[in-house]
Amino acid sequence: MDPMTEQQVRRSLVDCAKGEADSAALRAAESRMSARRSVVCLLCRSTHSGDAVSLFTARRAGAAGRNGDTVGTYVCADLGCAARARTEIPPWLRDRDPVEVGEERVAELRERVAEFVDAVRR
Ligand SMILES: [Zn+2]
Repeated sequence: MDPMTEQQVRRSLVDCAKGEADSAALRAAESRMSARRSVVCLLCRSTHSGDAVSLFTARRAGAAGRNGDTVGTYVCADLGCAARARTEIPPWLRDRDPVEVGEERVAELRERVAEFVDAVRR
């Protein structure tokens, strides 16, 4: 399987935001959550302080998007999900082969990115 890089995560998310000529680009919310809160990235499932996770929104395709309908997800603010899926192995998976676990986590990341893209295009 091809490794998924940070650029690919970014490109997938940006591509899904431009299904239509008039659609807005993927946007990160300007406000972030409190650093005291613990928040999970919904793409790579790594846990961060709230200020390291951003709400990314994309305008939906077609009429829904023209009416201002958006889809959002909480993602690592630096979009470093692909690297984290391989390197930040949760404690309950650490007795397994790290390469195998990393590949599974990258495959799951790829599925979640595809689900987000589907939600935007739906
Ligand atoms: Zn992430």
